[in-house]
Amino acid sequence: TPMTLDARLEACATEFADRPFVITDDRTLTYAETAAWVAELADGLAALGVRSGDRVGLVMANYLEFVPLKFAIARAGAVAIPFNYLYRTEELHYVLEQSGCHVLVTMTGFASLDQLGMLDEIAPGWDTGSQRALPELRDVVVLSTDGRTRDGVRTVDDLAALGRAHPGGAGPDAGTRAQPDDLADILYTSGTTGSPKGVLITHDATQRTGYASALTRAFEDGRRILFSLPCYHMFGYVEGLMAAMMVGGAIIPQTAFDPGRYLAGVERHRATDILCVPTMTVALLEHPDVAMRDLSSLRAILSGAAPAPVWLWEKVRDGLGVSEIVTGYGMTEQGGAMTLSLPEDPLEVMSSTVGRVKIAGAAGIPERDGDLTEFRTIDVVTGEHLPDGEEGELIARGPTNMLGFWRKPEETALALGEDHWVRSGDLGIARADRYLELTGRSKELYKSGGELVMPKEVEEVLSRHPGVSQAYAVGVADDRWGEIGVAWVVAKPGVDVTAEDLIELCRAELARFKVPKRVLFLAATELPTTPTGKVQKFRLSRMAAEQVA
Ligand code: ATP
Ligand code: MG
Repeated sequence: TPMTLDARLEACATEFADRPFVITDDRTLTYAETAAWVAELADGLAALGVRSGDRVGLVMANYLEFVPLKFAIARAGAVAIPFNYLYRTEELHYVLEQSGCHVLVTMTGFASLDQLGMLDEIAPGWDTGSQRALPELRDVVVLSTDGRTRDGVRTVDDLAALGRAHPGGAGPDAGTRAQPDDLADILYTSGTTGSPKGVLITHDATQRTGYASALTRAFEDGRRILFSLPCYHMFGYVEGLMAAMMVGGAIIPQTAFDPGRYLAGVERHRATDILCVPTMTVALLEHPDVAMRDLSSLRAILSGAAPAPVWLWEKVRDGLGVSEIVTGYGMTEQGGAMTLSLPEDPLEVMSSTVGRVKIAGAAGIPERDGDLTEFRTIDVVTGEHLPDGEEGELIARGPTNMLGFWRKPEETALALGEDHWVRSGDLGIARADRYLELTGRSKELYKSGGELVMPKEVEEVLSRHPGVSQAYAVGVADDRWGEIGVAWVVAKPGVDVTAEDLIELCRAELARFKVPKRVLFLAATELPTTPTGKVQKFRLSRMAAEQVA
């Protein structure tokens, strides 16, 4: 049944009242306790003047408070903007300005990031109510996790107290509640291919993806999902929080990924599920504690964001004793995972594909397709629909479609056609057996001498050289060729490799137009990445242009 996020929580609080919902090392919140806290915080927001449709930003690590704050924003009828809390000053400035949030809830004491200091730089006077840099920002509330705060600045506890003093919020127009199809979240994309875009997601969308996930993963009552992936991103938000809620389960959020703590958390809180990206899985398997911890409660692992090799899955099965391994492929624009493999899928299939999909027009599997996302591919250049099984840009359509990008009409028009197909920016093949293969990103393709080059093909050849640890091929504008290919390489320590060696290798293995004209070296630490570690090729391309010019 379509519901708003706050109505869903209230329904859960009735059905699962005393069951644990959020578990951390020092506190546990039940469903009923969460709902009561949410009511106070929502009244507090209303008393601050937050009204239906207002935007409330949240810079918040995976602290227990994230959950009540998130639902309180929905309960107040407002739109939540959970930001990436790893942003540095410049990135934070961009999203605060671009989003135009009215109230910002931020934190102190997380890692070495001085959020309040960054605000001083971005919007001097924010703590005295006199800032002018962000014209739409009216209030800032701080969660003090280290006892530090600023005089005169409201804390999250103050906000709850304000709510208790003003039940129902202040003013006659307070407390107008949203509808399931209303905007619930503005979720920023990772910014892998350009500036992050604020994706408009409804109340219903993330619940549907969460529900589809719980269904595909065959969750029974009361699963306990441990993760350190941030709740501002749909991986933690949907596959953790939303999926758990659908079965009266609990989340065990951790504020940072530390493999030792992760394993300890599984043992201590009897986690049944973990969420991982492949690099995290490797770190868990390599950690010495893996053999010492009691991981017998662990049933399933959900992996996403990048492909993983078969050997990794074998190690997960044997090393962690996890029988159910599921991979997912999602994007912010679809409010979470669009495809998931099934627990019974063979490991080989999971390493080459990102799960099963509903292919537009093809015969489906009724009980699982329900109202899932449909897929097709289009020609990257002409935008024309391609026959099934041909490689092209993946487009997706379904009930979890975004409403658009916040304050970006041109990008919205490009990404969301009139027929409601959302362009993914990913290249892939929707195979006749209903498995989806990902092959790259369309923005990262380049044309050299009129021929389209797939960077992945070049990178695979380069990676075969024993002296290459990582390789990235990018296009750089060129008067004569339109674009030329440049490869950035991170060399392996202790192995000699030159640009000539690598160009030689490419000449032997690739068609002439695919051979990079230049090979440049850099250290792994010099790779431009998003705060979450995705390599930003558009930056590599700019860096290459400077070197080649
Ligand atoms: P931006 O849109 O700002 O450039 P982004 O696309 O990286 O950034 P997200 O929405 O966070 O932002 O990430 C979605 C993308 O992540 C997908 O479009 C896809 O490229 C990649 N991705 C997701 N799951 C997988 C997976 N299982 N395997 C490979 N790539 C994946
Ligand atoms: Mg994207």
